Amino acid sequence: MVVGSNLSFAMYPGLSQGAIDAIHTHGSEEQKAFYLPRLASGEWTGTMCLTEAHAGTDLGIIRTRARQLDDGTYRVTGQKIFITAGEHDLTANICHLVLAKLPGAAEGTRGISMFLVPKFVPNTDGSLGARNGVTCGSIEHKMGIKGSATCVINFDEAVGYLVGDEGKGDAGHVHDDELGTTRRGHPGLGLATASYHNAVTYARERQQGRSLSGVKNPRVRPTPSSCTPRRGAACWPCAPSSRGRGRCPRGRGC
Ligand SMILES: Cc1cc2nc3c(=O)[nH]c(=O)nc-3n(C[C@H](O)[C@H](O)[C@H](O)COP(=O)(O)OP(=O)(O)OC[C@H]3O[C@@H](n4cnc5c(N)ncnc54)[C@H](O)[C@@H]3O)c2cc1C
Repeated sequence: MVVGSNLSFAMYPGLSQGAIDAIHTHGSEEQKAFYLPRLASGEWTGTMCLTEAHAGTDLGIIRTRARQLDDGTYRVTGQKIFITAGEHDLTANICHLVLAKLPGAAEGTRGISMFLVPKFVPNTDGSLGARNGVTCGSIEHKMGIKGSATCVINFDEAVGYLVGDEGKGDAGHVHDDELGTTRRGHPGLGLATASYHNAVTYARERQQGRSLSGVKNPRVRPTPSSCTPRRGAACWPCAPSSRGRGRCPRGRGC
């Protein structure tokens, strides 16, 4: 229903669902306890930051980097593009799930790790702390779903937290992609349903065709036609029973 009524809006909880799935499957117990209730309630939203300007399908060549600090947190630096729900003020915070590589990571997709990078670094009680090094570089130009902000997102030494194991970020991505495939079916179903209901309404309301026994709707005036007695044989509204008896529904006497 949400997709059928507003696909653009549906993208926001849709991407949160991706973040929820990834944290639920790969996150630590602390991460689940802290982030999942806020994402599930809609208090915060989430994103999936995979794509880069040179890396879409082939995520093994991403350039976004992360480095670990002594306190166990990470700093994430790089640029992602095409990020759905990447920036907005619908919710107080946005939790970006970012694919990046650690120093010495393996080549290709095996070297990808996943990080949770909040727009505002939350305090332990859930209140919002400092603005993180995450900024919206620009809004992408699209042909449709323009109400959905698809963004270039820049990470500049942004505070991040590892989700799952090092080098297993692609598993999270694959997991999200599998669920994403299911989720991508939802827009199709929602839009097809909306399309069907629009078509049914249109078909029920539209006045069209002619009754063989004459005009049924008094508001519809017979259109002038070339129907003449001489050409009456070709006048389809004239039922055989009325033809030649001056009862042509077009009033032309054929
Ligand atoms: C509206 C919108 C929202 C998006 N939201 C997000 C988001 O929230 N987060 C995010 O991370 N990304 C997002 N994306 C990006 C999306 O995930 C990428 O567009 C997608 O992964 C494809 O990457 P690409 O556009 O770079 O195409 P490419 O990778 O360049 O692929 C183009 C074509 O080439 C083919 N191809 C690519 N590599 C090969 C190969 N080696 N061999 C044979 N064929 C190949 C592909 O199958 C495809 O047909 C979004 C995109 C759009 C349009």
